[in-house]
Amino acid sequence: MTQELLDTMPALRVGRPLVVAIDGPSGSGKSSVSKEVARRLRLAYLDTGAMYRALTWHCVDQGLDLEDAAAVEQASRDLVLELSSSPQEDFVRVRGTDVTDAIREPEISAAVSAVATTLGARTELIRRQRALIEKHHRRIVVEGRDITTVVAPGAEVRMLLTASEEARLRRRGIQLGGTQSAEQLAAQVTHRDAKDSTVVNFTQAADGVVTLDSSDLDFEETVDAALVIVTKVLNRD
Ligand code: C5P
Repeated sequence: MTQELLDTMPALRVGRPLVVAIDGPSGSGKSSVSKEVARRLRLAYLDTGAMYRALTWHCVDQGLDLEDAAAVEQASRDLVLELSSSPQEDFVRVRGTDVTDAIREPEISAAVSAVATTLGARTELIRRQRALIEKHHRRIVVEGRDITTVVAPGAEVRMLLTASEEARLRRRGIQLGGTQSAEQLAAQVTHRDAKDSTVVNFTQAADGVVTLDSSDLDFEETVDAALVIVTKVLNRD
């Protein structure tokens, strides 16, 4: 879809609220696709997974027991977090410390589900996510696991980005530079999704949520398909 076409569509005009909620499992290409969709639509961008990762980094840094729900919940309230809301920039800081790369380390990926399944901490991060959506005047692409269903069920566009397990493992493997064994990859992708699914359903699209299966699509094709969904949904309303 050409930029000229996007820029002239009345439904996409600046000033109208446009929350694009994108959920999906790890390795579905969610982050890179969401970022590019935000860039093309000239919207802000929120990676909610980065918030759960930053909280996990903070808990590990403080030496907290991740099974101690009360401590993790308290940490979620105390968390001093700054993260980029622009698709052109990527930074995450906890109390001024740059943790952009640290939160992607296998140690954090392995621990994040324990934090994300702590319900009190979820409540606090969801509150912050909703506040960020408002701060950007509801012109934002928000990606995660529960955006279409819990964080922003009233979003103008709601999408579930899926991909076969094989495609997801392959993509995560490439993303991590081929440094991981098959077992480590499975732990990071399949096992993490299984644990995450105990508190949020991101494998089946809820009512009104459009599924985009990217298993057989490359990056550009997936972005294009996502933009087609956005324009179709908006032109329908
Ligand atoms: O998207 P990403 O893989 O970076 O997310 C990291 C973790 O954050 C997920 O495995 C999940 O535990 C948690 N998460 C969540 N709800 C969201 C986004 C992420 O529970 N909306």
